[in-house]
Amino acid sequence: MTALNETHDPSLTSWVESANIEGCDFPVQNLPFGVFRRSGTREAFRGGVAIGDQILDLNAVRTLRVIRNQTAADALRAAGAGTLNAFMAMGPEAWSALRRALSRILRTGAAAQGKLAGTLVPQREAEMAVPANIGDFTDFYTSIHHATSVGRLFRPDNPLLPNYKWMPIAYHGRASSIRTSGQRLPRPRGQILPPGGNTPEYAPCRRLDYELELGAFVGAGNNIGSTVPIGEAESRLFGIVLLNDWSARDIQSWEYQPLGPFLAKSFATTISPWIVTMEALEPYRTAWTRPDADPQPLPHLDSPDNRTRGAIDITLEVWLESERMRREGSGPALLSRSNFRDSYWTWAQMLVHHTSNGCNLTPGDLLGSGTQSGPKPEEGGALLELSKGGREPVTLANGERRAFVEDGDTVMFRASCSAPGRARIGFGDCAGTVLPAA
Ligand code: CA
Repeated sequence: MTALNETHDPSLTSWVESANIEGCDFPVQNLPFGVFRRSGTREAFRGGVAIGDQILDLNAVRTLRVIRNQTAADALRAAGAGTLNAFMAMGPEAWSALRRALSRILRTGAAAQGKLAGTLVPQREAEMAVPANIGDFTDFYTSIHHATSVGRLFRPDNPLLPNYKWMPIAYHGRASSIRTSGQRLPRPRGQILPPGGNTPEYAPCRRLDYELELGAFVGAGNNIGSTVPIGEAESRLFGIVLLNDWSARDIQSWEYQPLGPFLAKSFATTISPWIVTMEALEPYRTAWTRPDADPQPLPHLDSPDNRTRGAIDITLEVWLESERMRREGSGPALLSRSNFRDSYWTWAQMLVHHTSNGCNLTPGDLLGSGTQSGPKPEEGGALLELSKGGREPVTLANGERRAFVEDGDTVMFRASCSAPGRARIGFGDCAGTVLPAA
């Protein structure tokens, strides 16, 4: 279990001035990891840490030898690589040692400040890569509010299937089409059954949607044939990003039975490029509860620790910027807000369930949380919910209406954590723009 330590101290400030601006996603208490290079160059991609509006280049830090702690120095070498898999595989002790060392050199008054000025790259001058080689991508379905309202649209008489309250439901997603924020995706084509018809056509999707999710990167993983007990589950998780599971609803409704989503989801997934570590999220942990009237989890999915701190208070937002908003410079419109603390299952339960049959998770695997919808209708994490299956289009601030995502729309997720007496940290943007069908 991670505990609060000096890196979470809310009074800490950084000599990187932009990190101290109120509302900045990346204060010195955050220190998320990503992989970057300067835009427009052929430089090698390498590991970095976001601080204010800058990136601390971890390879450049390594050459300066300002980090002397051996565990932290070993972790620094791994974290500077072109993918973070080796760093993720090292486990919490290494992650934590490096976080502490980076916090110390980035604080106001750090002795290393003079040497480090040349190790910063402005974020606006960088391009970000997918931060790990993602071997497998599994997408869960942990919001009971989303599962119930979507289930009602697909199966009005039987919205929530009987297994839902017993296990974190998931399907195997597609790793090859995951990209970082800024992704531009053509509208997918697929087999679609016209309303009232019984012969499908192959055509561009007409009901393109987003899904507001979090993604968790697996750290050390587990051996094939072994299971992970719930008390160890979180030590196998490295950190969290925002994740947009783009979904073609018309393709989905025709293909999803009997084996679940396939081409409706596999054409694109967008993630935010900065991985906020589980340790950075420690101050925002909160109790996880299960309503008394619902089945309580089976013993392998339950623990006192999971009950007292299994949930995480993360405010999630969806913004949409249409072509017209971009042209008129009006800025994006807020579509919805929800919170990950409303999830029916926790990360620990998802990871335990995933390995409960002996399936091995490997460093850099990605787990999606499923669409995070809150209990209120306006907290839907997908347009399918907000527009009641497309029947009641949402009216945006400038009068435009949306039942589903249109060509030229940029869908942007944002998220942040705050707690009394704690720093506010954020996740950066997770944005993707829809292009006309290729
Ligand atoms: Ca999903």
